[in-house]
Amino acid sequence: MSHQTAPVCQDGSELREEIIRTCLLLRDRLGYFVGTWGNISVRVEDGLLVTPSRMGYDALTPEDLVVVGWEGGVVRGRRVPTSEMELHRQVLRKRPDLGALVHSHSPWASVCACAHRSIPVLTDDMAEVIGGEVRCAPHVPAGRHGELAKATAETIGPDACAVLLGNHGVVAGGRDLAEAVVACQFVEKSAMILIQAEALGGARPIAEDAWREERDRYLNKYGRPEDLAGII
Ligand SMILES: [Zn+2]
Repeated sequence: MSHQTAPVCQDGSELREEIIRTCLLLRDRLGYFVGTWGNISVRVEDGLLVTPSRMGYDALTPEDLVVVGWEGGVVRGRRVPTSEMELHRQVLRKRPDLGALVHSHSPWASVCACAHRSIPVLTDDMAEVIGGEVRCAPHVPAGRHGELAKATAETIGPDACAVLLGNHGVVAGGRDLAEAVVACQFVEKSAMILIQAEALGGARPIAEDAWREERDRYLNKYGRPEDLAGII
């Protein structure tokens, strides 16, 4: 499995506007963000750029986003960073292959999180974009930020780019923000499949050697001529 380091984004108005647009997409089109519950982080040069705490997404302007340093503490910004900032910081520190994270309380993932059920690799798209079983961290009461961050970072492991938070929600990441959003969508779809397939006798996960092969192809060959070697 080849895990490359994620590219570091340049902190600027373009990236900040993309984050705000993505918050609105996650709330209005996908229904994963509700109220002010949901937050985003993107890896930038001197830390992670995060959404602020307790601010409605409609009111967000690029200046409201906050950069938090890798050792904690606000580097730039006048707002209070998301209360789940520590979770983003610890996961991004643990996983240099991830450049952006989305944390939401999306419905199907929350069903699995409340049942403390990990989601095995069920579909080819999950193998490619998630890259492993989405494990479930134990429940940590809201407000115990350090404990929640530690449990999440310990549970995510080296493979999957998503993790469930017991009785809480989900964190999904990607090399960039667009990929993190797609990861959220595939976690949500996989959670739904896992639950619905119970009516048909239970889902049958993909064998590990097969999903590892699919993940490796997605990361290293997809969209390149060598993917179609011998065919074109
Ligand atoms: Zn949350």
